[in-house]
Amino acid sequence: MSNLRFSELGLSAEILKAVDRMGFEEASPIQTAAIPPIMAGEDIVGLSSTGSGKTAAFAIPMVEKVDPKVRKVQVLVLCPTRELAVQVAEEVAKVSLYKRGVHAAPIFGGQSYDRQFRALESGVQIVIGTPGRVIDHMERGTLRLDALRMLVLDEADRMLDMGFREDIERVLSRAPAEHQTLFFSATMPRQIEELIRKYSRNPRRIHIEAVAQNAPRVEQVYFEVERRSKIEVLARIIDINDFRYGIVFCSTKVMVDELDGHLHARGYATERLHGDITQAQRTRVMEKFRRRGFEFLIATDVAARGLDVDDLEVVFNFDLPNDAEDYTHRIGRTGRAGKSGKAFTFVSGRELYSLQNMIRHGRLKIRREKIPSLDLVEEARENQFFEKLRTTLDAGEYRKQERLIDRLLEQGYASTDIIAAVIHLMFGGEGAGGAGGVGGVGGAGGVGGAGEKKEALRLVERVDRADRADRADQTARTERADPKKHRAKTPREPQAPREPQAPRAAKQKYDRPARTGREAGFVPLFFSVGRKQLVTPADIVGKIAGVTRLPADVVGAIDIHQRHTFADVREEHAALIIEKVNGIRMRGEAVRVTPANPAQLDAE
Ligand code: ADP
Ligand code: MG
Repeated sequence: MSNLRFSELGLSAEILKAVDRMGFEEASPIQTAAIPPIMAGEDIVGLSSTGSGKTAAFAIPMVEKVDPKVRKVQVLVLCPTRELAVQVAEEVAKVSLYKRGVHAAPIFGGQSYDRQFRALESGVQIVIGTPGRVIDHMERGTLRLDALRMLVLDEADRMLDMGFREDIERVLSRAPAEHQTLFFSATMPRQIEELIRKYSRNPRRIHIEAVAQNAPRVEQVYFEVERRSKIEVLARIIDINDFRYGIVFCSTKVMVDELDGHLHARGYATERLHGDITQAQRTRVMEKFRRRGFEFLIATDVAARGLDVDDLEVVFNFDLPNDAEDYTHRIGRTGRAGKSGKAFTFVSGRELYSLQNMIRHGRLKIRREKIPSLDLVEEARENQFFEKLRTTLDAGEYRKQERLIDRLLEQGYASTDIIAAVIHLMFGGEGAGGAGGVGGVGGAGGVGGAGEKKEALRLVERVDRADRADRADQTARTERADPKKHRAKTPREPQAPREPQAPRAAKQKYDRPARTGREAGFVPLFFSVGRKQLVTPADIVGKIAGVTRLPADVVGAIDIHQRHTFADVREEHAALIIEKVNGIRMRGEAVRVTPANPAQLDAE
């Protein structure tokens, strides 16, 4: 809802004049939303942050509704402190400046009773007070509520914090049956809900999200992305920023499933949350996410609602949220605790208009950016890789690679060959130009240069990613080991009949980008091992690159199923890959590699 001018709120000339004099140009969101229903006599629960103009939101309609001819207390405002009571009284005085015959009095502890008696006796219509002193006067009979038409609880949350609950209930229960009740608060603890249920009649709830307060710490960016490129762009942004902990929001369950499958195949450690996932499962995923057991949670709004993580590096709106409020809620999970967070929103086609509406109406600050180019991705990956390599060497932490080396040795490769292959992969053919230095070592081929190095880097990055995904997955699998405990279907192991459909649907929706897309000269191969053998994308890529010594980009998308795997490979190398990989052991099992039967793929 956009803000209205005060003149659009159906107020009298006297009040408008006073508001004008107060220097208010337009009504704030809480005022825009609350004033008309209060004028119409409705009960209200107004929730908005400190400084958002709640005082005028009730003071204006309250003064407007007071009947100057009736010299009895018509409105009672309860405030937590004497200072607040005085502030509210001052604001009421300003609003009622031009309305004759309306009088207000603050009553609070510490002030002389004498003075308060006189004020109450003089026939004020509005009393603003702290709960204790108000009860005092009620009990002395100096404050009577028989003509009361409106009861306001300002800063209800603070009053409860300060232990006024009993006092408040006493006041509420003594008010005449026919009156309007207005609750204003910056937060809504459960206690207030209880009061509202008990003392309010079907109140209108107004919740103004504090966008402006959230915004500065979260860097917010949107991209115009073609629907079919969303996954690629998502992967690029993750890689460029080297994000390791975030949520990706999708609008539907189907989209969550698809995206989860795609990201997992690309080597990211992901889990999903949506309405079809059992409660036990959900709890497990949330718990795992909280302890950073995987990198990215793919979720719908509803499913992520109960998730109390707030230290995310990044939030992606893979699909546009419904409105500014949902948007704010989503991105509020990052950038907390003084840390900076990032929020990326994808819009495709006409969604741009919805986003622009959201930005306008929700006063959001989201900057448009261009989709990062592949070059930028390469550069970032390269930097990250070299940084990592250096740290690893400095820290002497490369011992754990022994496992990989052992595996290669076990398969009969000579150690000198292994080293030569790695050097070839990393620096192969860097005869001319490039980063220099190590270039001479494997420069025999002299082809490809920097391009090939990039391929090698990409491979290493990818194997690394996949390895992380694998480790996360292993943990999950160990947790699921007890079949009785985890009878419900798990994210990574959907029921058999459903399983083949998800990747297929995904493929139709998202043509993969040229680098990995089947349409750009790739053909699918069938591998006779799958999840059951704990095969990971790292195994597939590593095995293919290892035994064929082809660069990384011969392998495209990888879809791992329960007992088999489809991997797209470059058409011109398919025969060699089949020849070399067929029959070798993968995770202890001899793997059969064949061209993927079109019927198998169609059945997917
Ligand atoms: P809250 O009670 O929500 O914490 P206040 O009612 O105390 O907020 O208002 C905070 C400040 O904003 C006050 O100085 C008030 O005068 C000012 N203010 C309120 N409404 C408007 C408005 N519509 N335009 C400009 N300033 C406003
Ligand atoms: Mg206030």
